[in-house]
Amino acid sequence: DVPKQKFDYQSDVTRLRKIVINSLYSHRDVFLRELISNANDALEKLRLTSLTDKQVLSGAEHLNISIKAIPDKDGFGQLVITDTGIGMTPEELTKNLGTLAKSGTSEFLAKAENSDATGTGNLIGAFGLGFYSSFLVADHVRVASIAAKSEKNPNPQQYMFSSSADESSFEIYPDPRGNVLGRGTEITLFLKPDALEYLSTEKLEELIHKHSSFASTFPIYLLTQKSIEVPDEDAEKTETEAPIPSPSPESDETDEDEAIVEETIEEVKKEEEPKTKTVAVDEWVQLNKQPPIWMRDPKTVTDEEYELFYQVTFKDNTKPLAWYHFSGDSGSGVSFRAIIYVPSFVPESYWQAGIQGDAKDVRLMVKRVFITNDLGEDALPKWASWVKAVVDAEDLPLNVSRETLQSTKFLKQLKTIITKRLAQILGRVQEEEPEKFKEISAVYNNVFKLGAVEDSKSREKLAALARFSTNQRNSTSLDEYLENRKQGQKHIFYLADMGKDTAVLAKSVFIEKLHARGYEVLLLNDPLDEIFVQNIKKWKAVPFQDVAKAGLKFGDESPEEEKAELESFAEQFKPLLTWLKKEAGELVRDVIISNRLVLSSCAIVADAHGYTANVEKLMSSNTS
Ligand code: ADP
Ligand code: MG
Repeated sequence: DVPKQKFDYQSDVTRLRKIVINSLYSHRDVFLRELISNANDALEKLRLTSLTDKQVLSGAEHLNISIKAIPDKDGFGQLVITDTGIGMTPEELTKNLGTLAKSGTSEFLAKAENSDATGTGNLIGAFGLGFYSSFLVADHVRVASIAAKSEKNPNPQQYMFSSSADESSFEIYPDPRGNVLGRGTEITLFLKPDALEYLSTEKLEELIHKHSSFASTFPIYLLTQKSIEVPDEDAEKTETEAPIPSPSPESDETDEDEAIVEETIEEVKKEEEPKTKTVAVDEWVQLNKQPPIWMRDPKTVTDEEYELFYQVTFKDNTKPLAWYHFSGDSGSGVSFRAIIYVPSFVPESYWQAGIQGDAKDVRLMVKRVFITNDLGEDALPKWASWVKAVVDAEDLPLNVSRETLQSTKFLKQLKTIITKRLAQILGRVQEEEPEKFKEISAVYNNVFKLGAVEDSKSREKLAALARFSTNQRNSTSLDEYLENRKQGQKHIFYLADMGKDTAVLAKSVFIEKLHARGYEVLLLNDPLDEIFVQNIKKWKAVPFQDVAKAGLKFGDESPEEEKAELESFAEQFKPLLTWLKKEAGELVRDVIISNRLVLSSCAIVADAHGYTANVEKLMSSNTS
């Protein structure tokens, strides 16, 4: 019999445990994520400490997490989560698990106690509950732990923390089994009768894949059962019990697909087959074989891996058009790694949704644990809100609340970083992969125009990506347009007529002369186009010029010659002009002689300061 020391929980802990125990059934999945991330933290602490003190590594060879379900005949069961991390001394067990040291906890308690059940559920998602989330699924929790060997603690002893959900106290005592762990922590959850689903391998695999397959840089093993055929004469031998060795990542590395056969449990078939029989064996299966892809060196990640990761993470079976994998610093000391993806399509709702971006696929992780995909007020600008990204911040606390996140400025900086990088990738594809850029342009051309109008910070970059049809070619960028400019040309000429086919626009009377003289004219037929040029106004200091407006100058004309020509025309056609003015009456402001037409005899043009026919159409459709 070991002497058991009884401690009362700190009053805040009692309050928190009550909330946890009474909180929503639908949120209890989070317990596994919390325990895995604690294990991961403990392993990370160990690794860090070992950099200066090698002896902490003694006691257990490998750094890993293992999960074992132990079903019980009487309809109960235990779930055991073990890590070989830094471990805890009895004092640490008392302090870390019996008191609350977490920042934001009192805020959490105040809010949780004043909210209804649903509100509490949301709070759990926002704050995390740490170790106490164990009581979401367990009536009773036992934590065995043995601290890593150090100068201060040369002979660590394994201790036990034991607590029931309905008690206001916990017990601390030496583990009667002795120092069986070697190093680290073993958490045994005595599952509630309604939480036995967590004994199922499928359920555990699903949970780990959903929340934490990328939650640990250390291997996570799950003990599973597998049926295998063995020669019958082995029956006697395999029935003898063997001790369960701890999972070994080394043997796993040598043979990736074949898991380690640990122990033969029971004979399933005996009589039917005389030569072979099926036995159920336990095997440790690693659930996270590789470090998360964003933590890897981009040079080691294949395109297929980026695509697969995208498809699994964002539940989109199409292949992304482009991605960018990078690391950086937010500017406020938060270092992070990120992969941002350009999906193959913009959802239909994108163009219907309001002006505010509603990015729901920026998955923010902290130390590889998913935290949120809701950037809230710090949503991206509308043009970029379709982006899909994973961001892993190294220097934020794992249970960081949204409020805390806001106050760190990190989200704001993140928004700027993602927006900037996105514009950057697109620019890079445009330069380096013209064929790929064509695909992107087919989906995003209007997005670029929208962005150039909406987001002044990205204006230059996005306007450079926009493509336009012209009287000379199907597609040109503004830079290409300027390269193709004629000597002396001082404007970027455009003709805008919404909804008209560009082939029709190309034959417009307004561009006859320009065309004949070899000028390129942008043919704008999308409502966004005209808004675009009106907002951009200039490209590389060259102003846009609507060719449907009066006072058009080409840039290569000789003023004297033209003046003389126009004067002689005015003289020659005076009777015609007088007659036309009289006939047209109030319908037009003026009738003038023009030298801008080549083939057509006349054109109706807008005043230099008036609306174009196009904008008039838009205005009248808005008011009717
Ligand atoms: P948090 O992880 O935010 O600190 P938790 O409630 O999850 O809060 O854990 C409380 C403390 O208990 C941790 O800070 C850590 O010191 C200790 N702890 C929990 N789990 C482990 C573990 N597996 N190994 C070592 N220490 C642990
Ligand atoms: Mg924790």
